[in-house]
Amino acid sequence: MSLRMSPAEADASISALSPQIDLYAELLVKKGAALRPGQELVVQAPVECADFARRVVRKAYEARAGHVTVIWSDDVMTRLEYENVALPYFEHTPSWKIEQLNSLAEKGASFLFLDGSDPAALQGIDPAKPAAASRARNLECRAFRDGMDFGRNVWCIAGVPVESWAVKVFPDTPRREALYRLWIAILQVARADGPDPQVAWETHNATFEKNKRLLNEGQFDALHYRSSNGTDLTIGLNPDHIWDGGSAKTVSGTVYFPNIPTEEIFTTPDRMRADGIVYSALPLVHQGQVVRDFWMRFEDGCVVDYDARQGREVLRHIIETDDNACRLGECALISKNTPIRETGLLFYNTLYDENASCHLALGMGFPECVKGGYDMSFEELVEHGVNRSHTHVDFMIGSDDLDVTGIREDGTEVPIFVDGQWAWEDEFSGHTW
Ligand code: ZN
Repeated sequence: MSLRMSPAEADASISALSPQIDLYAELLVKKGAALRPGQELVVQAPVECADFARRVVRKAYEARAGHVTVIWSDDVMTRLEYENVALPYFEHTPSWKIEQLNSLAEKGASFLFLDGSDPAALQGIDPAKPAAASRARNLECRAFRDGMDFGRNVWCIAGVPVESWAVKVFPDTPRREALYRLWIAILQVARADGPDPQVAWETHNATFEKNKRLLNEGQFDALHYRSSNGTDLTIGLNPDHIWDGGSAKTVSGTVYFPNIPTEEIFTTPDRMRADGIVYSALPLVHQGQVVRDFWMRFEDGCVVDYDARQGREVLRHIIETDDNACRLGECALISKNTPIRETGLLFYNTLYDENASCHLALGMGFPECVKGGYDMSFEELVEHGVNRSHTHVDFMIGSDDLDVTGIREDGTEVPIFVDGQWAWEDEFSGHTW
């Protein structure tokens, strides 16, 4: 007797989720993409998820979208392209593609990226090709890129399950059952498994607002991380730094969620001040490859030594991407009591895995995390401590007993994280700032 679902049983189970999947589609349209009546919505979706994409489009027109453009993505075709077309092609974006993305952005479209992909889709492909393509798109689709980076366009990334991804998350599970289980996990961690996901996100956001306020009022000069796994790292914070997370707001005041799910509160640390050693809490998945059980030692903001039980070369490649890839661009705080962490799953997808635990990122920092950052040149940002790099790679350091202490300029210390969760998480009264 097999305890496994037959394909027919798995499909019946997915069908039974239909009403909940509709609520998820509606959540993405209304809270993620924050669609307004008459507005254009752009949906990028994997071809395997045509059914879900159609649900999203239906919900968008129910919410009185002016028009919806769907851009299909396809792992297999993308791979065929990289296998068969020479590098110079990828160094420029086709002009029709530039026109498509820029004109939609300039008209004020909202962008919804449905992320569902085989984590190994590009394994063995010359990494220079996808790197060139994404660099070209960033440089040449300026209105599209800047529209999102400078708060003019709403954008949201959310997950949708595809079989090739599901079998990676649930190995040794039949394909249809794995797909069903990934749907369950995605709905759960997106807080879309209850009767009113939109209300659940209002509540979730209220917690974000409180935590952001406490940290922003705190204006700590540094954070000290300590854990029984050996982590003992002090990271400097910039003057006038801003902690961000949860909902975002466009310059015209539309509130939206750039990531669904999201659990992190993050800022950009001082690129010149990180000292000590940090140990990984979870594996790092980078372009389909896994780095396990690693540590890095920092001096004056820069990685000076590192090692990994598995994937040391991948780590080296990341740290040596460019001159500043050895410096930090992000530090993010996430309680261990989140739906993502509670699933205990490794998703092989940054959207999910980076929300599983406190993390740091090597590479590019965030302009919006220093006051006035949107109006600064790259040189000014670097002067204000914001790192500049072609890469940004998150790695998880949030062990279950992680303590994070905020250090003020005058040396006084305030507990921020105790045993892997917010110091004030269990009690709403009595914090003594
Ligand atoms: Zn992050």
